[in-house]
Amino acid sequence: MLAVVKEQKTKGVRLKQVPVPKPQKDELLIKVKIVSICGTDVNIYDWTPWAQSHINPPIIVGHEVVGEVVEINGKSKNIKVGDLISSETHIFCGRCYQCKIGNKHICENMQLFGIGRNGGFAQYATVPIKTSWKNDKTIPLEEMSSQEPLGNAVHVIHRVNVKGKTVLVTGLGPTGLCAVAAAKAYGAKKIIALNRGSYRRVLGKKMGADEVYEKLPEKYLNKMDVVLEMSGNEIAIQTAFEAARIKATVIIFGIPKKDISLNFGKYFIDKELTVKGVFGRKIWETWEDVSELLKSKKVDLTKIITHRFKLSEFEKAMEVMKSGECGKILLIP
Ligand SMILES: [Zn+2]
Ligand SMILES: [Zn+2]
Repeated sequence: MLAVVKEQKTKGVRLKQVPVPKPQKDELLIKVKIVSICGTDVNIYDWTPWAQSHINPPIIVGHEVVGEVVEINGKSKNIKVGDLISSETHIFCGRCYQCKIGNKHICENMQLFGIGRNGGFAQYATVPIKTSWKNDKTIPLEEMSSQEPLGNAVHVIHRVNVKGKTVLVTGLGPTGLCAVAAAKAYGAKKIIALNRGSYRRVLGKKMGADEVYEKLPEKYLNKMDVVLEMSGNEIAIQTAFEAARIKATVIIFGIPKKDISLNFGKYFIDKELTVKGVFGRKIWETWEDVSELLKSKKVDLTKIITHRFKLSEFEKAMEVMKSGECGKILLIP
């Protein structure tokens, strides 16, 4: 089968023929229908310090996958051959303290699909049964492949009350775009979104932002009830704290590429802000909520799907991904 393999500890990947994998105990074999490109995959491609500390090549990359189950090696309560499953990237141990108290998404022994083990940029993939989500067949296949960023966004929104609130979203990558949609779905009064590139500002409007800007207009300084920082960009993070009103809640989701400095006194103390870090998605509470949003059409993920490529055109797709002139990019094996 064709697969995208991170073969060397250098920049780039290789498209090559590899054997179809055998599902190990408690794994499924899926025929990959669609796999979408994530920002993480760009890190892996570029071999950034983050990738260097998480990846031990060779590895088949790709984690936002939807596929048809063709073989099951083990017991599964609800998944059968022929079902369409999406993979949860965070493979939890099920035994550590966090797993035991219902926080599997921040498992202390986390393994990552398509990062720490072979993933889904391929025609077939093996996925642990415990991290396979059985999709409702009424949801369009393309939406099934892009639930990860919506899951992140829903998890973010569930950490703060947005109902009737003025919400600022900084950064309109896929998770930022989904955060706009989720804030809208859960009743935000007004949503303002910031993004440097204009392409994604247009998508931000489509997903439900009332106003989009390159930079925060001065009139909004100290006015936001809720700020969702989705970019990890240093300037955006500063803006997030400047936009927050006294007693506001700031959610930090975007991961900065380097250490950044913040004025703790001015922001955290003077404004009495509530600042929360958010990671991943709850397993499976968030997936249930995402499924509801998609089934009820309260969120239409197809609006952010902008490009489709064959898996063999991976390099072309990666180029578009890096340009920022895109929403979600889908690969079809
Ligand atoms: Zn991802
Ligand atoms: Zn665990």
